[in-house]
Amino acid sequence: HNVKEWDLKDIVKSTEDHVVFTWGATDPMRKAAKDFKRGEGIYLFDYQGRKYIDFTSQAINNNLGYSIPPSVLEAITKQLTTLPQLYGGLTITEPKAKLAQILNDVTPKDITGFLFPCTGSEANEVAIRAARRFTGKQKILTRYKSYHGGTTGPLTATGDFRRQFGESGVSGFVKFFDLQAFQFQWGQNQQQSVSTYLAYLEETILSENPNSIAAIMVETVTGSAGVLINPPEVIQGIRALCDKYNILMIMDEVMVGLGRIGEMFGFQTYDGIVPDIFTCAKGLSGSFLPLSGVGFRKDIQDYFRTNALGWGTTYQAHPVSCICAYEVIKYMVEKDVVGNVKKLEPVMINRMEELLKKHNSLRQGRARGLFGAFDLVGADGQLIMKSYSDPVPEKVNKFKAKLLENGIQAWVRPPVMHIAPPLIITEAELNDAFNRVDDALNVLDH
Ligand code: PLP
Repeated sequence: HNVKEWDLKDIVKSTEDHVVFTWGATDPMRKAAKDFKRGEGIYLFDYQGRKYIDFTSQAINNNLGYSIPPSVLEAITKQLTTLPQLYGGLTITEPKAKLAQILNDVTPKDITGFLFPCTGSEANEVAIRAARRFTGKQKILTRYKSYHGGTTGPLTATGDFRRQFGESGVSGFVKFFDLQAFQFQWGQNQQQSVSTYLAYLEETILSENPNSIAAIMVETVTGSAGVLINPPEVIQGIRALCDKYNILMIMDEVMVGLGRIGEMFGFQTYDGIVPDIFTCAKGLSGSFLPLSGVGFRKDIQDYFRTNALGWGTTYQAHPVSCICAYEVIKYMVEKDVVGNVKKLEPVMINRMEELLKKHNSLRQGRARGLFGAFDLVGADGQLIMKSYSDPVPEKVNKFKAKLLENGIQAWVRPPVMHIAPPLIITEAELNDAFNRVDDALNVLDH
């Protein structure tokens, strides 16, 4: 075993020899992967000491950046030195109790019960299991342009290109279209589109038989597929159809929960809309430690007081992760992190509009809070990639290289470029980042 201090060469060698990458084939993914050594604030530093702004908070998860707040670090350290691990399935602990209490405080009063898996995928597994067991019904309706996680249940629920890997899947999932369709329009204007869309959804519910549908599960703002923002009428319409046909509404807040779009939870941006079950992860613990959460409306929580939910994993409600999340939420409230997001939303929108006017490689931009995306287009004005199995155009690779050269680490998965910096970014830092992206886009223009 190599006991000397590892330099970048050792790290790359072991990665090459032994590390398996996941969504794509290992070799191309490894070659495209970037090394990082440390982080500070919104910045990452590589092994050469070069500095990068993290412009997508990794996978839109490290909402508080790379400098762990001292209060969070202190609580984690204390937990590690007093009770570093306890199986959450059979024990009562202060971290779990405190986290449930603070979530109760920051969510609508109808949502009263919480449990804590590890990942967003697991949280969605729980939501699906709970909806089926509570209603005694099996079907779950989800949308085509969605991502709900990489484990088999949520991957079957997923509609985006990754669902190919879960095709042998789990039974009982039915897909419906999104308001944002590529090949056709639902109507001549927004109002007509929404009303046709909701009529289509009702027709789907009736065709599937409402008595067989446990839940409709949607991302509050569709994230991975490109920040597709649901107009309020769509979310209100889905809520109304759920109420009419006695179907649960599950909102997947894994990406937008914990402040990303300008409220603590994304559904709070839709006046008065409360889901029956919601899931969150990523920002819940600032991603300093793995943790996700599921919130239940009171009658669902009460049902499981006397009926088994029938779910578990060893690391649920891990005490170190739970105390971390509790302190993260406390920090967010004390520092008004959500206020910072609200304050910077107009800067995001202005700068995105400016880039749209300036660069013909961009077609459309969408943003809410600190969550935005551009569609990238080729010389023909069409999306630069039609399908994720298309080869990535050379220009896009040059653009990615230029972004890195300009000190921007961003998640560019064509045809979409996400913009989602840590929520603690300052206005000056945000403007600096946009200036660097602006320059890099010249490489992509025609
Ligand atoms: N749901 C949504 C909306 C997501 O964006 C993600 C991850 O990106 C997940 C679920 C899955 O979460 P995880 O990767 O933590 O399992």
